[in-house]
Amino acid sequence: MPENPVAGFGVTFKDMFKKRLTEQYPEYKKPTAPRFHGRHQLNRHPDGLEKCVGCELCAWACPADAIYVEGADNTEEERYSPGERYGRVYQINYLRCILCGLCVEACPTRALTMTNEYELADDSRESLIYTKEELLAGLEDGMVDSPHAIYPGMTEKDYYQGLVTEAAPGTVRQTPTDTGAPQKSADTFGVDEPAAAGDATFDAAPSGRMTHGVVTSSGEGER
Ligand code: SF4
Ligand code: SF4
Repeated sequence: MPENPVAGFGVTFKDMFKKRLTEQYPEYKKPTAPRFHGRHQLNRHPDGLEKCVGCELCAWACPADAIYVEGADNTEEERYSPGERYGRVYQINYLRCILCGLCVEACPTRALTMTNEYELADDSRESLIYTKEELLAGLEDGMVDSPHAIYPGMTEKDYYQGLVTEAAPGTVRQTPTDTGAPQKSADTFGVDEPAAAGDATFDAAPSGRMTHGVVTSSGEGER
């Protein structure tokens, strides 16, 4: 038994007269700090082409293994970014992400940034794995949705030097055939792989399946 039982209520009494910090969320949403780390965004060039080049540096920088990227080659018939490669599949698992921003630091093209959006709760795992379509920035004035041709006479370098400020007149969206679905993994290992040599206990991921990201080859969220 303490010497003075009333002293134990000192903190309680002191806080009773302080200004209340209760917030009426979600009716009132307090604005975040300008540099708050919220949901990611995949940015576009001013003509609508995508900045992501599918290099996977963000995925390798992520300490939580929350990002899965598959790059692919652009073609003149289906061009998503000004250069050689683009991010064909891009996913962020918000069940893993700790919103640290290291992926943003690692991105060489400023394709990846973070928004102030913080309402990332849901009741299913699948809905918290954001796909490229969900992460890609919306279209602003002067943009044409990808895929489409590069601005005539411009190079990839010109894009990064800010020389392209809008889509060229007459730019039309090319017919997309890329679904952005994760590619199917190989059914078998090569002859030199341990699994093919009859090692039944070998459980390595087949090629095409993520080894450091979010999704298995079937597109199913990792459990
Ligand atoms: S912000 Fe999220 S996705 Fe990016 S590096 Fe940190 S944990 Fe990974
Ligand atoms: S977001 Fe940036 S770092 Fe990540 S794959 Fe695209 S270009 Fe590379």
